[in-house]
Amino acid sequence: MTLAPPALNDKADIKAFTAETPGTRMLRTAQNHLDEAAERLQLNPNLHRILRSCERSLTVSLPIETDDGDIEVYTGYRVQHTSVRGPCKGGIRYHADVSIEEVTALAQLMTWKCAVLELPYGGAKGGICVSPNTLSENELRRLTRRYTYAIMPIIGPKKDIPAPDVNTDERTMAWMSDTYSMLMGQASQEIVTGKPIILGGSVGRADATGLGVAIIAESTMKRYGTPVEGATVVVQGFGKVGYWTAHYLARDGCKIVAVSDVSGGYYNPNGLDMEAMFNYTKSAPSRTLEGYDALTNAEKVTNEELLTLPCDTLIPAALEDQITTLNADGIQAKFIVEGANGPTSAEADKMLHARGVIVTPDILANAGGVTVSYFEWVQGLQAFYWDVGEVQHKLRRFLDNAFLRVCDFSERNNVSLRQGAFMLAVSQVADALEQRGIFP
Ligand code: NAD
Repeated sequence: MTLAPPALNDKADIKAFTAETPGTRMLRTAQNHLDEAAERLQLNPNLHRILRSCERSLTVSLPIETDDGDIEVYTGYRVQHTSVRGPCKGGIRYHADVSIEEVTALAQLMTWKCAVLELPYGGAKGGICVSPNTLSENELRRLTRRYTYAIMPIIGPKKDIPAPDVNTDERTMAWMSDTYSMLMGQASQEIVTGKPIILGGSVGRADATGLGVAIIAESTMKRYGTPVEGATVVVQGFGKVGYWTAHYLARDGCKIVAVSDVSGGYYNPNGLDMEAMFNYTKSAPSRTLEGYDALTNAEKVTNEELLTLPCDTLIPAALEDQITTLNADGIQAKFIVEGANGPTSAEADKMLHARGVIVTPDILANAGGVTVSYFEWVQGLQAFYWDVGEVQHKLRRFLDNAFLRVCDFSERNNVSLRQGAFMLAVSQVADALEQRGIFP
């Protein structure tokens, strides 16, 4: 099958592009990857139809009393794509752009990610349409508890297990775990992963996604002929995923030449000091890198400029829909390793593939988080906890095996790593579906 890069040359094309929201574009991209995999696998059309839709989709209204006594009403979602291979699993996102389309796309990606890693889960995702930095800690706690209560009928340690995502963290998970346990009248910490260690969290969970992205980035560079030592890397996003990815890559000898966060990008072709930047965000009033350039020899660049800087490896680790037809041709990196979920649109992906840029897809590259979430769930269910050495050793084994499976399969079938990863994942889930049969 020939993959022709789409033309986006005139004003009408650009208008059509911008008319779509990032959420609808992301859902279209996710469906497109499934459709292509189904076509290449010559998947039974009945199974394809089932996998195109989501098992359950819940929208909830969340009235919250504000600190000054008013009522604000937020909208929340929880979408479960499929439970055919096990309970559903996926993070909870707090962001002003959260929409049902975005959450649906992310739930589907979780299914494929769990299948690529051979974890016994199906995919889910949740979110609340809110700018969390406009709420006090008490308001956030009330919102989180109300949301947990509202989605309670469909979650459970053997049904659907939430985790952190953008703008949520172990504190959010502690509130969710407590709310669920209080309403159930029994200790039920296994309802979420990414909890504080004292509440049954796993050691090695906080940095697991970033460590996993670093492991996969290094494996990609090694396999495709670029030494890790001295490789130049650009990271978009400096949160839970971006920072830890940059930290581990710098530890292993890469030169991090640029990073960005919501305040913009910071570039130094001679390399940036990750720990100094991390410490800066801890003490900055905005908790961002804002103003870092004024204190150091880093040059301020826009987030758009950052994506097209010269480097060996580009790691988008912020939000979806960052690499599109509008900037894909300008990207100079040899490798893109997707720390974020869905950072590359379907059309941009084809343009990059046509130019020979190797893209290691999100469903493989950022799967370290859900893998250690799986370890946390297993430890919680057996009430027996491992040390960090055991967690990281098992994580590396799971990721190395998945990376080899995807690369070998893709090379054998002469498809991109994304196409290979999707084909492997879709065939696994379809096989499970076929063996279970359709209820009733
Ligand atoms: P986070 O909230 O900890 O960090 C997000 C970072 O992105 C912040 O530094 C923020 O300032 C930055 N950012 C926001 N908008 C930006 C923009 N327009 N340009 C540049 N930077 C911007 O979130 P996270 O947990 O690090 O998640 C990042 C991505 O990784 C998301 O796509 C998420 O779905 C994905 N992911 C997260 C996990 C996890 O375990 N946290 C696992 C797998 C995938």
